[in-house]
Amino acid sequence: MISKMISELFINAAVIIATISIGNQILINKEITPFSPLKLRIFFGIASAMLGMILMTYSIEITPNVIMDLRNIAILLSASYCGLVSVIITGLVLSLFRLLFQGLTFASLMAALNIILISICCAFTSKYMKKGREQWIAMSIYTLVFPTLTFLITIRNGKLLIETILIYWISTIIASIVVYVYLHYIDFLRFTYQRYKEESFRDHRTGLLCVRQFDKELNKLIDNLSSYSIISMLFIDIDYFKKVNDLYGHQNGDKVLEEIGKILLSSTSSSDIVSRNGGEEFSVILIECPRDKVLEVAERIRKAVQEHKFFLLDNKTINITISIGVAIYPYTVRNIEMLVEQADSALYQAKRAGRNRVILANNEGTVLNEN
Ligand code: GH3
Ligand code: MG
Ligand code: MG
Repeated sequence: MISKMISELFINAAVIIATISIGNQILINKEITPFSPLKLRIFFGIASAMLGMILMTYSIEITPNVIMDLRNIAILLSASYCGLVSVIITGLVLSLFRLLFQGLTFASLMAALNIILISICCAFTSKYMKKGREQWIAMSIYTLVFPTLTFLITIRNGKLLIETILIYWISTIIASIVVYVYLHYIDFLRFTYQRYKEESFRDHRTGLLCVRQFDKELNKLIDNLSSYSIISMLFIDIDYFKKVNDLYGHQNGDKVLEEIGKILLSSTSSSDIVSRNGGEEFSVILIECPRDKVLEVAERIRKAVQEHKFFLLDNKTINITISIGVAIYPYTVRNIEMLVEQADSALYQAKRAGRNRVILANNEGTVLNEN
């Protein structure tokens, strides 16, 4: 009897762990919180309910007349990850499933009521308690208390009642701990994955996108190009940067690069694509920015750098300047594939013309406008 129960409990735990693993793979790139988009929370609520339904079909016989399952773990999962909306959906679907597919009896009514009560309590707990161990413990307590009340009402035989409650509590507590520990591990894996992913497309010194990501973003823009698209490319290069390294040392050079990264981010909007394309070369892609505004943005960046006091490690300050080459699709270049080349050649023009300036390329890639 005991060995059968343990093996059934093991199957239930295995179903939960397998479902969490698959769910994690499906949602690996999504942030799963009570503030996620509504669609995702609804999806999570339904997916948790499906897990609950599977668990209900793998019920565990704890005494000849009493069966239990780990459906409540699905409710806990839904509440702790996606909060109120998700857990209410999970609770409703599970209680309906219990009523419609497992017969309209007193036992199923009590079971459905239990599901609803646990879901409501978990919903409020997820709203008012921070996600973590204490929240999980509070939610686990509901899954112990409500069914225990049902046992007290429905089981008349004292010995059977104690036996049932004891086994129910031990199995639920073990399952709750095992799932909590596994979820903790999954959360750690998710966090590590997200961090490495984030680091893989950012330049570690400036936090801007790296050149590989710049290429990817540009290709995406080219693939989605429409007849209304305006794509502007700003190529930026620090003037006489070698001198900064020679005069003040490489470490100070690195510090200047970090500062430049910050200036670029603060002078552009969050929809712009700002990258460090290598060494002391940067780029900004402006999407759908009107033609006249592009030069304004470039000039704003140039000025911001010119006026910035760059602090060195010994607290001395220096000033540096940058040159910017600008190309705009479809105005200065009709073939989008030539956008980078044209911005680069405008930058070269800016250097040749004396540095610390913005140059817009024209159709032939020569100087059109100087600032
Ligand atoms: P120009 O005005 O013509 O651009 O002159 P420049 O000295 O900036 O140009 P050049 O391309 O000759 O020199 C770039 C220098 O940038 C060479 C190198 O010492 C420096 N550099 C490139 N990457 C890094 C980096 O990661 N850290 C530091 N500190 N310096 C770098
Ligand atoms: Mg250079
Ligand atoms: Mg340079």
